[in-house]
Amino acid sequence: MAVVSKRPIVIGLEVHIQLNTDTKLFCSCSTDYIGHTPNSNTCPICLAVPGTLPLLNDCAVELGSRMGLGLHGEIQRYSNFHRKNYFYPDLAKAYQITQYGLTISDGGYLDIESEGKPRRVRIHHLHLEEDAGKLVHPTADGRLTGAAYSLVDYNRGGVPLSEIVSEPDMSSPAEARDYVIRLRQLARYLDVSDGEMESGSLRVDANISLTNPDGSLGTRVEIKNMNSLKSLERALEYEISRQNKVLDSGGRIIQETRLWDDAEEVTRSMRNKETASDYRYYPEMDLAPIVITDDQIEAFKRSMPELPWEKRERFEKSFGLAYEEIAILTERKELARYYEDTVEAGAPPARAANWVRMEVLRALNELGQDITDCKVKPSALAELVKKVESKEISSTIGKEVLDVLARENITLEDAIKRTGASVGRITSESLDALIDKILGGNPDVVDTIKSGQDKKGGKLKFLQGLIMKESKGQADPREASETLAKKLEGLC
Ligand SMILES: [Zn+2]
Repeated sequence: MAVVSKRPIVIGLEVHIQLNTDTKLFCSCSTDYIGHTPNSNTCPICLAVPGTLPLLNDCAVELGSRMGLGLHGEIQRYSNFHRKNYFYPDLAKAYQITQYGLTISDGGYLDIESEGKPRRVRIHHLHLEEDAGKLVHPTADGRLTGAAYSLVDYNRGGVPLSEIVSEPDMSSPAEARDYVIRLRQLARYLDVSDGEMESGSLRVDANISLTNPDGSLGTRVEIKNMNSLKSLERALEYEISRQNKVLDSGGRIIQETRLWDDAEEVTRSMRNKETASDYRYYPEMDLAPIVITDDQIEAFKRSMPELPWEKRERFEKSFGLAYEEIAILTERKELARYYEDTVEAGAPPARAANWVRMEVLRALNELGQDITDCKVKPSALAELVKKVESKEISSTIGKEVLDVLARENITLEDAIKRTGASVGRITSESLDALIDKILGGNPDVVDTIKSGQDKKGGKLKFLQGLIMKESKGQADPREASETLAKKLEGLC
């Protein structure tokens, strides 16, 4: 639902992406901290014991640079770290090591598509920084307020993040959502981050203002604590409506940071917005500047995989698919790879696209599985699609076969047998010969039927069963019954 605002909406996002490194940004503690005993994943460096020195993780520099390149940014030959001072218990040092001014990547853009319209969101910059620890407020109902005390866990403290700051180029909550979706897709394509919002690998802070009647930018409010795409949209919608109401009643918007309360579906004032001078930034003298050579930048560029928009373009040219189909198939590179493998295995591109999009994703969804867990091999899917195409099996049976394949590690042939489908049907001539053979081999049964003693039809069923058995299920049941009946009449 599009949100209604009398005043044009201006949104800029700051997205923190946890970089896929093995160790933290300035020490050798693991970045795999989720589920560990609180404060067990720490060392004197990330606990800020006096006298310890940080040592920069090169891998984070490479991942940050890759993301910068993916965003069409200018990788900086020289950048450095600063100390951002603020006193809060989640920060062991009482300052955060971050980049300020000279950042690893400058400028760039990300093209998105929102509600059918293309839009270019400019990127201000991308910088590296360390994550803070985590405060736990133990309230019975999980709400933000009312805890009697707070606990601090430094396991996350020092984990490398890249913060991507956009220009205020988005004009609706839907655009903000679509920007985050595209950014996350890029990070995943580049193997820079898993981009999971729920686990906190991707966090979004939004800056939103409503334009003044004279066209100037209104007062900006920052919103934090949105841990899903849905909360991002809801929080922005709420804030648009709140700010419109304040202005309609003659009030003023205060520059502040507000927290989204997911349970109550409201934003609440957290603090007045700090300005840069509140943080007393100053250069981190314990760390050498980051120097990236032209050769390194060239190497980063060479190591870039095919990017989402490049893949979309290639899919359109090579397979002639519709935009919506391509969007789904290329959403994740693992799914795109699966589709391409299916086509390479011989499935017609358009049919394969349909099967992957409609049936494979449906089956995975029903099983609660990811494409990376998919038991249906692309080669098996290609064979199945071809069999349905050539009408060897019906599409209904084909879907059943796919469901069997998705559940069990069995071959396509076994899955087809399991569904009782008559595949590779024997020809009418072979069926004819087979029935003759069966009738010839069972003269007593034939006599019983011919003399009218098979009142309940049991003997006839016995013969029909024999035909299916002898043909290994490859006889068409209806054709078999009809031929059998004719032959029995002819024998009468
Ligand atoms: Zn550590």
